[in-house]
Amino acid sequence: MEDKSQITDAEWEVMRVVWTLHQATSKDIIEVLRSKKNWKQATAKTLIGRLVQKGLLETEQDGKRYLYTAAVDETESVKMLEQRLFDRICNKEVGKTIASMISESTLSHNDIELLEETLNRKKSEAVEEVKCNCVPGQCQCKGHHH
Ligand SMILES: [Zn+2]
Repeated sequence: MEDKSQITDAEWEVMRVVWTLHQATSKDIIEVLRSKKNWKQATAKTLIGRLVQKGLLETEQDGKRYLYTAAVDETESVKMLEQRLFDRICNKEVGKTIASMISESTLSHNDIELLEETLNRKKSEAVEEVKCNCVPGQCQCKGHHH
């Protein structure tokens, strides 16, 4: 079985349909994505096959059709995606990156309230300085000390 966290953008599109419909046939998936992706049936079936192989989709046969359900939770998968982003940058850059993401986003008053609550909670856990987690030579911070 392949690494579950290695999910491509195209595979992610398929997962979103299955998460939304709970149970979907390949036809349903193609139908939903028709306006967004101009996939041939074979393309969609290849993507679905890969997701089954990765253990992200489960298959159930229903007569002549195959029904697909998600083997992983949407919230968990989004968390994994966030983790993959933060794994790619220096720990010291995480705050700045989140601030930039907020600046670039369209947010509702409710969203902002949630962010404010989260930040207020984080204030009590704040550290003096975030430690760099990088291999020397992959970010600016360690170069100064060596
Ligand atoms: Zn660093």
